[in-house]
Amino acid sequence: MTRIYPHFIVAKFGGTSVADFDAMSRSASLVLADKNVRLVVLSASAGVTNLLVELASGLESRLRLDKIETLRSLQYNILSRLKQPEAIGQEIDRLLDNIHRLAEMAAVARSAALCDELVSHGEMISSLLFVEVLREQEVEAQWFDARKVIRTDDTFGCAAPAISAIAAMAENHLRPRIEQTLVVTQGFIGSDAAGRTTTLGRGGSDYTASLLAEALQASRVDIWTDVAGIYTTDPRIVPQAKRIDNLSFAEASEMATFGAKVLHPATLLPAMRKDIPVFVGASSNPSAGGTRVCRDVATPSRYRALAVRRQQTLLTLSSVNAQPAHRFLADTFAMLSRHEMAFDLVTTSETSIALILNATSATSGEADTLTTALLTELSSHCHVEVETGLALVSLIGNALSEGAAVCKEVFAELENHPVRMICHGASRHALCFLLPAQFADSAVKALHRSLLE
Ligand code: ASP
Ligand code: MG
Repeated sequence: MTRIYPHFIVAKFGGTSVADFDAMSRSASLVLADKNVRLVVLSASAGVTNLLVELASGLESRLRLDKIETLRSLQYNILSRLKQPEAIGQEIDRLLDNIHRLAEMAAVARSAALCDELVSHGEMISSLLFVEVLREQEVEAQWFDARKVIRTDDTFGCAAPAISAIAAMAENHLRPRIEQTLVVTQGFIGSDAAGRTTTLGRGGSDYTASLLAEALQASRVDIWTDVAGIYTTDPRIVPQAKRIDNLSFAEASEMATFGAKVLHPATLLPAMRKDIPVFVGASSNPSAGGTRVCRDVATPSRYRALAVRRQQTLLTLSSVNAQPAHRFLADTFAMLSRHEMAFDLVTTSETSIALILNATSATSGEADTLTTALLTELSSHCHVEVETGLALVSLIGNALSEGAAVCKEVFAELENHPVRMICHGASRHALCFLLPAQFADSAVKALHRSLLE
């Protein structure tokens, strides 16, 4: 079949880019500036998901009504600026009534499934409003329910996408539409095999955009946010941080995993699988340019960026009954896997294992990694120690595990920092270390000054 748009682009707009009518209008102009943009993926308006998560936690009636009122006025501020608000007014009211009803249910008995159903309304509303903003600019656009194609498992709050099912469903239901008109859909939300609404974890709209780009073999993903690209570190910690114009998938993916907030950590995986470049820019200031992420960058330097992940927990497990090391490691990891515990950095000695647990990014915001069941089982098998209040600082770069001077250059700067654990060697692109949270900013500042300025 010949395609009318063989080089189409998926454009994703984050919460601040659809925060109010003016932001939506600017985002609409960006969509229209490139005729290859055929699929638009939206977040909820800024602040809306947080309100919905609070409602899903089961608020008492006064507080609940307050939050719903805040939400209503936020969305009505956009609706009332449309030339013909009546075109979608009823539909918006229906969704707001739904929110009300679901929030009442959550106050009786909350659940992760109910939370996902409730929060999905943020993206539903923003996408309806955006279609109208486009229509009022005389652009033909269709609204599309992302749950028809984003098939996931039933891990509510942090669902895993089913890649081949998504490819098949997107080909059937979405491809014909993008050949016809511009399509606007929701990020973040999906559905399981039983048709129940799921979400991809906080910040998941980026991931939706790259999953759909992968499914439909788009030529590029544009992520429009509130910063003009990806920086060497968070400019709120280091004002001298600079935008990086070109990043490789490997570098950007390590940055997202280790705490750079610009992209959802999984966003680059689909893009890498299909070699689709990702652009990150600011919708309020497109002429400022942005960061282009693609397979390779020409002559990448050794040190590229610093990221911080806060709220880390260190779990240290020590063997008590002189088991052989291989048995102790195997039994412990089997136990962790049965409990589906998420950890991503590990160091081991002959008799102990230290693991870094990342506070969950699940939609409900509940830290459920260290369950009592898991702790009980672990305690019957080994000595368990839990340390909290830690932060993980990661240096991202290239060939970090090869350079003779890397350790000297990095740790010389950290003389006065009580480093608790170091992960170096497994990845060529990241050197990570854990330290008490109150030392994280000063470690980042010192390393940025000496390695990146
Ligand atoms: N609205 C969702 C959130 O706030 C998803 C996203 O913005 O990407 O987490
Ligand atoms: Mg985001």
